[in-house]
Amino acid sequence: MSVSTDVATGPESVFDWIDTRAEARAKAGLTRRVRPRPAGSAELDLASNDYLGLARDKRVTGAAAAAALRWGAGSTGSRLVTGSTELHTELEYELANFCGAQAALVFSSGYAANLGALTALSGPGTAIVADQHIHASLIDGTRLSKADVVAAGHLDVPQVAHALATRGKRRALVVTDSVFSVDGDLAPLAELAATCRAHGSALVVDDAHGLGVVGEGGRGAVHAAGLAKAPDVVTTVTLSKSLGAQGGAVLGPSRVIRHLVDTARTFIFDTGLAPGSAAAALAALKVLREEPDRPARALDVAQDLAFRLRDKGFQVNTPAAAVVSVRAPSPEAAVAWAEACRERGVVVGCFRPPSVPDQVSRLRLTARADLTEADVDRAVRVISETGASAGAVSRPR
Ligand code: PMP
Repeated sequence: MSVSTDVATGPESVFDWIDTRAEARAKAGLTRRVRPRPAGSAELDLASNDYLGLARDKRVTGAAAAAALRWGAGSTGSRLVTGSTELHTELEYELANFCGAQAALVFSSGYAANLGALTALSGPGTAIVADQHIHASLIDGTRLSKADVVAAGHLDVPQVAHALATRGKRRALVVTDSVFSVDGDLAPLAELAATCRAHGSALVVDDAHGLGVVGEGGRGAVHAAGLAKAPDVVTTVTLSKSLGAQGGAVLGPSRVIRHLVDTARTFIFDTGLAPGSAAAALAALKVLREEPDRPARALDVAQDLAFRLRDKGFQVNTPAAAVVSVRAPSPEAAVAWAEACRERGVVVGCFRPPSVPDQVSRLRLTARADLTEADVDRAVRVISETGASAGAVSRPR
């Protein structure tokens, strides 16, 4: 194959296509911006995933600092070489124990856990049936898997059953988030598990937004659905949301976990989780055991925020976890609205395409267990006053 060389180009023009795309994104209001978070800011944070307010809890930060001093700032190598410490082993034991699973394996992030689990548990001989709203890390896992991938309608169990029944491969995986990150809605896990069982498929559930918030004492949505010990269910989690730390894990039957140790590329070829992060997650799990009411408080705050904003005329989800999403009329309006909130000291998330599966822009608010009544009052006041000027009220009052 010959490549045409008659285009007048120099090294400076090689990346011209980037500018063309950036201009198109700017026109569509989709430019993204990295904004460093000021330390010790007085802003009211409704954008982070620190659902239980543990990221800055002294018990958690103290454990991270002590572990860094003892074991080092980094883990020094991949998990199978020098990157495993006793903290990693203890964390795996505690995570499995807390969530009721047979075993767990810690990865350096939830993203890596999802890629590792999906690629190691599938391949060209597998059909993957995935909810069309799954998180980007699961999508990437399905893309890397070399499996036949079918996207099923959001929360559509009959479609999943149909795809399983008509698959052309012997092995199958059904893949879903437990709590969907954009709208905070809950997957029908029990029905999905029954459907998988009827069709000889495994079920992989990303419980990133369920752990620490959903179910008894925050044991997660998989535990709440009675599936934690199921022989055909695998759960992935992140340590970076309700646990306030960093890292990820896969939980499931011991033979699955052993298989991942031998074959999951993001486990084998990635540097192990930093000891400070492992210690922080361990300390957070301990807090969860000691304060089992924290998760319910996060849920209460979410439901209170959603109820009050809906009452002011906004289109708001019905939160099943700590995620509250408020619809905006356009990406530009969402950005302007989020900016107006920030100017008044309330930091909210702003979700726009391509991060939203249905192309609808939203403000994404995260409820935290440590928000006070006064914080919630302030949030509702600022979001509703700024939202009116962003044109987001569908039912003015
Ligand atoms: N799964 C879901 C549903 C998530 O929301 C996220 C984080 N945004 C991840 C996985 C990735 O986890 P981590 O940030 O630990 O890589």
